[in-house]
Amino acid sequence: MSCAARSRKRVAVVGAGVVGLNAALEIQRRLPGCDVTVIADKFNGETLSDGAAGLFRPDTYIFGPDVQTSRKWVKDSYSFYKNLLDKKDVDGPYGINSVSGYAFTSKDPSFIMNHYMEHCAPNYRDATEEELSMHSETKSKIINGIFCTSIVIECKRFLPWALKMITDNGGTIVKRKIESLEELCKDYDIVFNCTGYAAKKLCKDYNMTPIRGQVIRVKAPWVDKFYYYDGDTYIIPSKEDGTVVLGGCRHFGSNNETANDRNTEEILENCVRLVPSLREALKTDYSVWVGLRPYRNQIRIEIETINGTAIVHNYGHGGYGVTLAPGTSKHAVDLLISYLQTEAASTSE
Ligand SMILES: Cc1cc2nc3c(=O)[nH]c(=O)nc-3n(C[C@H](O)[C@H](O)[C@H](O)COP(=O)(O)OP(=O)(O)OC[C@H]3O[C@@H](n4cnc5c(N)ncnc54)[C@H](O)[C@@H]3O)c2cc1C
Repeated sequence: MSCAARSRKRVAVVGAGVVGLNAALEIQRRLPGCDVTVIADKFNGETLSDGAAGLFRPDTYIFGPDVQTSRKWVKDSYSFYKNLLDKKDVDGPYGINSVSGYAFTSKDPSFIMNHYMEHCAPNYRDATEEELSMHSETKSKIINGIFCTSIVIECKRFLPWALKMITDNGGTIVKRKIESLEELCKDYDIVFNCTGYAAKKLCKDYNMTPIRGQVIRVKAPWVDKFYYYDGDTYIIPSKEDGTVVLGGCRHFGSNNETANDRNTEEILENCVRLVPSLREALKTDYSVWVGLRPYRNQIRIEIETINGTAIVHNYGHGGYGVTLAPGTSKHAVDLLISYLQTEAASTSE
């Protein structure tokens, strides 16, 4: 039976990271006539998304086709998480919390001004002189700062909740490694490609580049704000288990997934300088984690057809996948709905 003739569409979402699970929820919400199967070789706790601190805070570059689309992705994502936050109760969603904090710089204010956050995050304002001087051992180094309230989405708690929602909505979960997207074409009418960095190999997409990151997680329940300093130094608290994530580094083009002691030392030194009370926390155990951000010069949201199956690409979120997953998934489902309407119109002619 052709895809257009079938009454219920069979949709495979490949990927169970933050992008895949957001996409699956969005398909179930907007296309109830679809049977959704999430296929992945890594699930809860094993994906890249699980390691990210999960602060909602995009960089200021244009990651979509243009600035308007990029802003829409940020706005749609923020609304999605804010809605979940507002209706949070004992049954979840888990891992989503409101957190306020600072972006500081030793440089010009343009280094920390964030046009995306300015348009969606509440309380966005310049840091006061008192706030600037309070937060540094080397006080003279911090000369500008922005304060705002944002959301931390901890994927290691949020993704298991999302997966349960998908199965509660009738979705199916399959643990399987695929060697090519084509292999799914005979069993599915639509395939969502949310494979993150693996899309480089699956799609022979040479626009994909890893950006290596290393972070440290330590118990410090007294730290209740997030801090950024000159881009790469950051401290992001978890409100759920009293840990903080200390970062970081960005090694463009590196696919080395081994933790580096020199990086650890630098991260600890920079974070303690920013929040000296962390020195106390480091007397206890801490863990070190390395991940490769799936960077693409532009996030790929596009439909191609292989053997009559619509392949909806949704990957390349770089260092901002947790932030952008709901907005880009909404865009991907918008494209799919237009595609299905065109397909239905052409078969009825
Ligand atoms: C150190 C660090 C800190 C970060 N901090 C933040 C942050 O604070 N905020 C933020 O917004 N972002 C952050 N990020 C970025 C974020 O982690 C990524 O953008 C996001 O996790 C990408 O999600 P994804 O779903 O595309 O990929 P992934 O989480 O990698 O998921 C990919 C999925 O595809 C599946 N898959 C891949 N290939 C196959 C195959 N062949 N067969 C079957 N299944 C397959 C995998 O099993 C997995 O389930 C950080 C990243 C790093 C490295």
